[in-house]
Amino acid sequence: MTEADPAQAAIDRHFMRQALAFGARGQGMTWPNPCVGALVTQETPNGPVIVARGHTQPGGRPHGEANAFDRAGPSAAAGGTLYVTLEPCSHRTIRAATPCVERTILAGVTRVVAAMADPNPLFRGLGFALLRTAGLKVTTGVLESEAQAAHRGHVLRVTQGRPMVTFKVARTADGYAGGAGGSRLAVSCPAASAWVHLQRAHHDAIMLGIGSVLADDPLLTVRLPGMAGRSPIRVILDSHLRLPLDGQFVRTAGEVPVWAIATESAPLSNETALVAAGVEVMRVGAALDGHLDLTDALRLLGARGITRVFSEGGPTVGEKLAQAGLADEVIVSTSPNALGHPGVVAVRPGLAALLANPDIYQRVETGLIGHDRFEHFSRIA
Ligand SMILES: [Zn+2]
Repeated sequence: MTEADPAQAAIDRHFMRQALAFGARGQGMTWPNPCVGALVTQETPNGPVIVARGHTQPGGRPHGEANAFDRAGPSAAAGGTLYVTLEPCSHRTIRAATPCVERTILAGVTRVVAAMADPNPLFRGLGFALLRTAGLKVTTGVLESEAQAAHRGHVLRVTQGRPMVTFKVARTADGYAGGAGGSRLAVSCPAASAWVHLQRAHHDAIMLGIGSVLADDPLLTVRLPGMAGRSPIRVILDSHLRLPLDGQFVRTAGEVPVWAIATESAPLSNETALVAAGVEVMRVGAALDGHLDLTDALRLLGARGITRVFSEGGPTVGEKLAQAGLADEVIVSTSPNALGHPGVVAVRPGLAALLANPDIYQRVETGLIGHDRFEHFSRIA
């Protein structure tokens, strides 16, 4: 239930917006847990003020609420209001940390404002019920759609067993991602490239097809100042284990993990060589076309705890993901410069048709990054 008093509802939205912004700091670092933002306010004669903020820490613990209470110190939260972007957890895991519901009650908080309920049907509403039973006032659903978007990876992993997938493709003004024969193009301007590095850091894993690896020999790490440690796991969809042993991925597998997903029929000798070079090889079933089953590959990543996947291609992977209903977010950036002759089409016809269908994708954001125009589509069905 949301707050009936409009003035209090506005205050709640104000603080929830800050909790969401604070929680977003953990994106890409908290898997297998969601990156929850939390803050504690206290009433003063001049209105409510924030006395502590927290967000889920790298590796997934402490949770956002626990982090806020730790920062608040003893008694600072007593009598205050907890704003939290997801329903506080109520169950003990094998690591036996105190559930956030217990921490909240012990901290003496008198009111809890949450953006959304736990997506897990086994626990949904339990945290809220326990808090109410303990005498706390509970308000829910504040900025729920923003929270659902922020926690989409966690929600999909809990409800469908797979991570959220963001597919990103860059194209020239005339629509090409690569030159004729798949040759590499420097499509993005420097500002847009920096933005892509930031997007990588906000995901748990980067995923791409072996075709892009063979064509470009990319590194796909985060190369922004001070963010070298934020490089996500690199996942290669490599049905037949063709990942070159002398390429950049394998050479750097000791620094940033590389996971190769292959079909059951990929040669064992290739697996042995890749594993010896530090690559983790996983196998899934093959689809009718002989290539690996994308849904199975994503379920495998979900089972390993991955909640957010950033797919940088290529165009074939993007089209397959979208046609399988697996491209949850699609980002298309368009350079003002044209290639001037035919090349590799960036947005293949199957993906273009889906993006143009308002029943399937909603265009949620457009804008300029440097010289490049970007469009962000979000899958609604
Ligand atoms: Zn918790």
